[in-house]
Amino acid sequence: MNCIFCKIAAGEIPSFKVYEDDLVLAYLDINPFAKGHTLVIPKKHSEGLLDTDDETLAAVIQRVKKVAAHLKAKLGADGFNILQNNGEAAGQTVKHLHFHIVPRFGGASTEIAFANGKGDFGELEKLAAQIRIQG
Ligand code: AMP
Ligand code: ZN
Repeated sequence: MNCIFCKIAAGEIPSFKVYEDDLVLAYLDINPFAKGHTLVIPKKHSEGLLDTDDETLAAVIQRVKKVAAHLKAKLGADGFNILQNNGEAAGQTVKHLHFHIVPRFGGASTEIAFANGKGDFGELEKLAAQIRIQG
């Protein structure tokens, strides 16, 4: 299957890994909304929320919690957003289930505004090493 996130899960394409276990992989988004913007995916392919089996989904959301807690503590974030897009109409560009964890820094925010940055690969490499969770 020609799926970029399956290729990342299989190690065929490199990623800035933050966490990995048998079922799940987490890595830095290369076009981050904020420092530490991380994607959490199941290694088993599904397109979005609705075609993912409940067992896999439970595993993924548990890891989202684990990684989010870790990022918040390690980066000193004041909060974080979880995003999960389904379908092109919702802005989904990669058709492999993924949860975005977006650390947020600063005071109270009543609006949710995101703008992609352009990731500096050297900085992403250092950041991934700094925040990586040893499995
Ligand atoms: P979505 O709009 O929810 O489908 O988000 C897909 C995300 O995947 C975007 O934020 C991209 O920056 C990110 N992305 C695409 N290719 C890669 C890659 N090779 N490594 C890390 N993140 C990626
Ligand atoms: Zn896939």
